[in-house]
Formats: sequence, structure tokens, C-alpha cells
Amino acid sequence: MSAVNFNNSYASLPEVFYTKQKADPAPAPSWIKTNDALAKKLGIDVSFLNSNAGLDMLSGRAVTDGSYPLAMVYAGHQFGGWSPRLGDGRALLLGEVIGTDNIRYDIQLKGSGRTPYSRGGDGKAAVGPVIREYIVSEAMAALGVPTTRALAAVTTGEDVIRETRLPGAILTRVAQSHIRVGTFQYFYAQNDKASLKTLADYVIDRHYPKAHGTENPIQAMYNSIVTRQAKLIALWMKYGFIHGVMNTDNCQIAGETIDYGPCAYMDTFHPMKVFSSIDEQGRYAWGKQPHLAHWNLSRLGEALMPIWGKDDDTTTAEISTALDTFSDTFNENFYAAFAQKLGLPELDSQSAPFLETTFETMTSNKIDFTLFFAHLRRSTDPTYQEKLINLFETPEAAGIWLGQWDTLKAKSGISANDSQTAMDTANPIYIARNHRVEEAIQAGLQGNYEPMNALHDILQNPFTQQDGAETYEAAPEATEIVQQTFCGT
Ligand code: AMP
Ligand code: MG
Repeated sequence: MSAVNFNNSYASLPEVFYTKQKADPAPAPSWIKTNDALAKKLGIDVSFLNSNAGLDMLSGRAVTDGSYPLAMVYAGHQFGGWSPRLGDGRALLLGEVIGTDNIRYDIQLKGSGRTPYSRGGDGKAAVGPVIREYIVSEAMAALGVPTTRALAAVTTGEDVIRETRLPGAILTRVAQSHIRVGTFQYFYAQNDKASLKTLADYVIDRHYPKAHGTENPIQAMYNSIVTRQAKLIALWMKYGFIHGVMNTDNCQIAGETIDYGPCAYMDTFHPMKVFSSIDEQGRYAWGKQPHLAHWNLSRLGEALMPIWGKDDDTTTAEISTALDTFSDTFNENFYAAFAQKLGLPELDSQSAPFLETTFETMTSNKIDFTLFFAHLRRSTDPTYQEKLINLFETPEAAGIWLGQWDTLKAKSGISANDSQTAMDTANPIYIARNHRVEEAIQAGLQGNYEPMNALHDILQNPFTQQDGAETYEAAPEATEIVQQTFCGT
């Protein structure tokens, strides 16, 4: 058995799909963290991963047997503006492996040097964004949100120049694939119908094999992509997650969260909350995410038109029917998620306005999103009931909301037990709080990964109250609040 059982398929696609490219060898790499549990799931030898040979692979110093490194090409709409050619400007696909779950996974280095798609960039990554992506993507996985994963993070032993000099690092990212809406858009914009078809066939084989048996596999694939995105966005919103850069090149075809740039979990609730320093218009605010995903999926529909196989009118009608299901699927999942968070059996037409009231109450009382629901689930305990009440600006405001909540619960007929279980499984106690991530990054910049490790470990069990972890649960103090997040690329 080799150390990594590469089983590559993307590399067999025509050369217009990628450029073969080697990584820049890191001069003096060193470990930040490895993910042994994920390695096992991928059938990767854990002792190899943690060996010098493993470090050589993760830092671009050696091409491991079976790896065929390449940079993928794609296009995309960034903040609504069209870029005909983006592509992996600082990433390389090392190859694919088949996991123990029988799913094919990409193994990719992020920050491994320039490629033909780097444009003005250096192709490198700084240690801060690498630590952020490691922590947040693994936290998302633990919450049960479809996401790319982090297999390893290493420093390169070389500085990168951003606003200041920063230690360079490489993240090894694992994904069901790195195909995005922008990959389809690239070939669509080039009028390359043959490659569009090849890509669609590849995506169906890899991600949506059931589409094969249907009357129009392209349509079936599209419908499934729409469904997965709608479910994904509902999950982001359930946990107060703001992606921050929902560009079409960051909208992955398998429905996983990808590209943890200026992402953040909200602390104080506001539906129009934005963290990203580059999102000046609030385009990707928490509450706008469904709208933006829908927009991205419309761009995908457009790109699929040439291979839909029907006349234009029929194609347009079928695409808009599929897009209409986005709202239905999103709403269904969103309301089910918030019903669970509130310990209610469902939010029907009678109870749905209560969710609006809840959001308005949280907004006007400037309540921390995660603490609100985490305290609510523990509010049969007087200590937590008091904490919950203290989140409101006045006890009266708390009384009004709690009164409405009690009434609805009673009317719904849900048992105390079921209500408790719903809340316990929907309301995490620990999220990757921005100030905690920031603290882990600042320590990491000094070569101290203890805060990163400690935070990561807590976030592995986000729904379980852990002894001595109160400080990880707490909202930031006024001086700790992170106002803005940065791509850092
Ligand atoms: P992102 O904002 O991370 O989705 O990246 C958008 C595009 O910019 C992609 O084509 C990236 O590969 C490219 N890019 C981001 N950072 C760098 C960098 N440091 N060097 C080269 N290309 C980059
Ligand atoms: Mg991207």
C-alpha cells in the first residue's frame, strides 16, 4: 500500500480544464496541525502524514507517488462583476482519493505558489487565514454543515508580504470536488459546448449519479444542485454563519461550504450583519444569503443552457421552474431549523410570525445570536433562565417574549421532552467566535498553536456543554468584538 492511494480522475479530463503545475517547495516547513481522524477516513496512512515525507507532500517539497498536481481553471462573478478567467491562483489539486465512505475526495494545497491563474498574486497564503480556515471549516463539519475539510496546516519557513510581512503557510484542503458554478461559466463564456458537456457528464458521474437514469440528466443534475444549495444556506443561517464572499467561483457544485475567507459567525444579531471588509454594499449580509445563492444558481442555469438539449423556451421554463424550488426548499429547511431552535414542532402559518418577532426582539435588544438559543435550551435551569433574561435590555422585554414563546409551545402540544431534544440538537453552545479565532491567529503568528488547538478541540463537540469551557461560550467583551474580517489573500 502506498502512503496515499491517489485515484485521479480530473487529471484525465481534456487539458483545457487545468494546467499541470508543481508547487513551490517551501524552504523550511514545519507543522501547525494535522487531522488524523480525517486522514483515516481518507485511507491516508496517519504515520506517513506525520512523517517528514508527509510534511514534504503538505509543503510542496515532494510529489508523492500517484499525485499529479494541477491548477484548475474557472471563471466567476465576483461581487456581481464578471471575470472570464480566475482559476486556482494559489492552490493545486494534488489528486483524489476514495474515502472509507466510498466518496471521492480532492486533496488540494492552498498557498503553494504561483500558477498561470495567479494574475498579480503571489500564490501564497499567510498563516492567519490558514489557521482561520482550519478552525472554521472543522467547526462547520462538527456542526454537521456540508463543508470542505482541513487535512493539515503547515508553515513554509518563508514570509509573505501583505500589509506587513507575515509567516507563510499552506492549508491542505479536502473537498468532494473543487468544481464551482464558475467552472461551468468558464466554458459557457468561451462558447465551448463540448467541454461544457464533458464537465456536466463528469459532475453527474461524480456527484449526481442518479441523474443518469432520468429523461434529462442535465436538468436532474441542476435540480439537485439547487436543492443542495438551498439546504446549505438554510444551515448557514441556522448557525448565524455569514460566508462573506458568495461569488459564483465560491459556490461549489457538490453543495459544500467552500472558501473561508472573510467569513464569520454573528455575535450580536442583526439580519443585515456583514463582517467582510470588502463587502461595502452589504451584498452578502446574513439575511441576503438565500437571495445571493439563488442569483448564483441562475448564473449556473444560464451556463447550462447550451447543453440542456431542448429549445430555448422550454429550457428557460425548466430552469426557472428549478429555480423556483430553491425558495421552497430553502424556506422549508429554514423554518424547520428555527422551529427546532425554538423547541417547537414546526413553524406553521400561525406560528411563523413569531420568528419575525423573535428576530426583531433580538435585533432591538442587541442579543447575541448563539447565546440566545444556547441559554434558551438550558432555561429550565434557573441559572440559565436568569442569563437568558439578562440578554434582553429589560426584564419586561424578556417577559413579553418568553410569554409568547410559552403560549406557542403550549398551543403546539409538543412534549417538554421533544421540545428539549429539538433545542439540544439545534442550538450549539460553542461556535468559532471571531474573537477566539483572532486570539488563535495572534498566538499562531508567534508560533504558539495552543490556543488554536484548544479552540479546535472545544468545537469538535459544539452541542455538548463542556466543563471549564465557559470562556469559549461567552460573547466578546466590548474590547474583544471583531468588527471586520479580511480575506487576507
Ligand atoms: P478567493 O477570493 O479566495 O475566492 O479568490 C479569488 C481568485 O483570486 C482565485 O482565482 C484565487 O486563486 C485568486 N487568488 C487569491 N489569492 C491569491 C494569491 N495570494 N495569489 C494568487 N492568486 C490568488
Ligand atoms: Mg475562491
